[in-house]
Amino acid sequence: MRKPLIAANWKMYKTPAEAESFLHAFLPLVEGHTRNEIVLCPSFVALAPVLAAIKGSAHPAHPHPRIHVGAQNMHFAAEGAYTGEISAGMLSALGVTHVIIGHSERRQYFGETDELLNRKLAAALEKRLIPILCVGETEQEREQGKTEEVLSRQIGRAISQIEPGKLEPMVVAYEPVWAIGTGKTATPLMAADAHLMIRTHVAQLVGRPIAEALRILYGGSVKPDNATSLLSQPEIDGALVGGASLDPASFARIIQ
Ligand code: PEP
Repeated sequence: MRKPLIAANWKMYKTPAEAESFLHAFLPLVEGHTRNEIVLCPSFVALAPVLAAIKGSAHPAHPHPRIHVGAQNMHFAAEGAYTGEISAGMLSALGVTHVIIGHSERRQYFGETDELLNRKLAAALEKRLIPILCVGETEQEREQGKTEEVLSRQIGRAISQIEPGKLEPMVVAYEPVWAIGTGKTATPLMAADAHLMIRTHVAQLVGRPIAEALRILYGGSVKPDNATSLLSQPEIDGALVGGASLDPASFARIIQ
C-alpha cells in the first residue's frame, strides 16, 4: 500500500507572517486527518516559522495530523563557498523532512539540468530527506509524441549511479509543464498513463519492488473540483499543488 502524499508548493509566495496565518486557518480544517501524508513547502525564510507554528499548535485534545515541512530546492554540496545556497544538512538540521528537486520552474528559469538534479537527489537521500523529484514534458514534446522519451530520460538521468537500495524514500511528481499554473489539467487517464510509463521505466532500471512502492504524484492545476477524479486513479498516489495550496480552505478541500 502506498500512502498518498499531498504537498503544497508555495513557490515565492507568503512572508513568514502570512505562512503563520495560513496555518492558523488550515490546522483546524485537517484535524484528525490520517489518510494522506501532508507536506507544506514554503520559501526558505518561512521554513523555521512554519515548523515552529506546527509544533506550537500541537494539543492532545485537538490532534492534527503530523504536518511535514519540505523545502523547494537545495544545493548538492554538504557545505562550501556557494553564496546564496542551502544544503540538505542545513534543511535536515532545521527539522525539514522533504525537498522538491527539479521543479520545472527551476529547470526553465535557473538552468537546472538532469545531471545537476542527479547530484541533488543523491545528496538529499544521503541526508535522509525525502526527495520529490519533478519530471514532465512540455506541450511541444507531447504534441511531437515524445512524452515517454522525455519522462524516461529525466528519470533515468536523475537516478543514475544511485544505489537502488537508497532510492526507496524517493517520491516522483509527474508535472506536465503545460499544466503548471495554466488552469489546464491532464485528464485523469492522461495522468495515469504517464504514471504507468514512469513506473514501468523505474522497474526496468531498478527492479519491480522499488517501482511498485514508488509514490508518483500528479501536479498541474490541481484544484478542489478536479482532485477527486485525479486522485481516484489507482496509479496516482497524491498531488503536488501550487496555486490552490495558497488558500487554506482550498488546500484542505483537496486533502479531504
Ligand atoms: C507546481 O508548482 O508544482 C504546480 C503544480 O502548480 P499549479 O498547481 O499552480 O499548477
